[in-house]
Amino acid sequence: MTTSITTIVRDPLVSTSATYEQVNWRSVWNDFPLLKQRVYSKPLAYLDNAATSQKPRAVIEKIEHYYRYDNANVHRGVYALSERATQAYEASRDKVKGFLNAARREEIVFVRGTTEAINLVAQSFARPRLKPGDEILISTMEHHSNIVPWQIVCAQTGAHLKVIPITDSGEVKLDAYRQLLSNRTRLVAIAHISNALGSILPVQEMITMAHTQGIPVLLDGAQAAPHIAVDVQALDCDFYAFSSHKIYGPTGTGVLYGKYSYLDEMPPYQGGGDMISQVSFEQTLYNTLPYKFEAGTPNIAGAVGLGAALDYVDSLGLVNITRREQELLEYATEALLSVKGLRIIGTAKHKASIISFVLDSAHPHDISSILDREGVAIRAGHHCAMPLMDRFGIPATARVSLAFYNSEDDIERLMVGMKHVQALFG
Ligand code: PMP
Repeated sequence: MTTSITTIVRDPLVSTSATYEQVNWRSVWNDFPLLKQRVYSKPLAYLDNAATSQKPRAVIEKIEHYYRYDNANVHRGVYALSERATQAYEASRDKVKGFLNAARREEIVFVRGTTEAINLVAQSFARPRLKPGDEILISTMEHHSNIVPWQIVCAQTGAHLKVIPITDSGEVKLDAYRQLLSNRTRLVAIAHISNALGSILPVQEMITMAHTQGIPVLLDGAQAAPHIAVDVQALDCDFYAFSSHKIYGPTGTGVLYGKYSYLDEMPPYQGGGDMISQVSFEQTLYNTLPYKFEAGTPNIAGAVGLGAALDYVDSLGLVNITRREQELLEYATEALLSVKGLRIIGTAKHKASIISFVLDSAHPHDISSILDREGVAIRAGHHCAMPLMDRFGIPATARVSLAFYNSEDDIERLMVGMKHVQALFG
């Protein structure tokens, strides 16, 4: 098996963005075949984009094309098909590099998703460095994926997990954060955007504060990458994780960005094919970056699909997407606030298009079930953020999460459904 990769055709993300006015925001949903269906004879209003997003035709066709014409294993076959598959896979890495504005393609590691990216950093970066009494700092707003991996590594090493408190509106208390940063802190791991509240954390400021004390920072970008432009060099974050399926790409694929100097000194996360340069029973030499962290046959079609998703996002322009989603956020917030007894959980000044709410009269699951009958898909539950629910003294919220392909019509359908909820529950 050969693992050296010498001839990679680069296909960096070349920005082809339209202007805001050039995009017909009311018709972009045409690009998403699934959105055209009816549910219970009603047009579908898909408002659970924070859980996963729908896929544009360009992504579906790219994956189909890959399996129809190019499928072979990567990095190992010395024949045309394998070279094409390798080329497609590695071209996606270059697109991700461009998308995040990473300094080097070696800093882009393909993983299963945000969850695996964080576990990789916990086990390969944190574990060898942590000693009893050391501390990892997270916020109250974290998804379980950015809590449990740290609890596991703390149990393995005797380190402690410290939690940055938040205000009632869902903003990080920066003074408390400053006080929590100490010479025992080994890593700060925080969400870029909260999946349950929509709060956009002041990550730039928080990174600068941590770096002043030489503390590295991991950003959980699962909710940020699809909605706001991310520049890892400008942020100067040390690790950045995101999932393909939330940014209009396929499931089972994601990205860990890490600064070269850190990734280079980290031991492999998993052993197997492709992550080695030489193996004997006595000794194994590991492959270079990023392959050292990509053991086994990777999700080739997933990476190829992610590349197509990033091209699609780039064709609309992330800046334009952010602007459109802010419009929808304002429209939906105002509409929901007209419902008697409705309380929005998460009213941070800087928010992405996520609205969590509770009603005095109805449980979130009842709200979601009634809306479903109207063809409106929203999420109800703890949103994998149980400690956050505890912070607000509630078991669950109903959550509307919007993408650029949603429209004011979808929000009107939501409001029709909310009228039914009110009629039934008062
Ligand atoms: N972090 C955040 C903020 C999320 O919203 C999610 C997905 N809901 C994750 C991590 C985990 O992502 P995945 O399940 O794709 O690994």
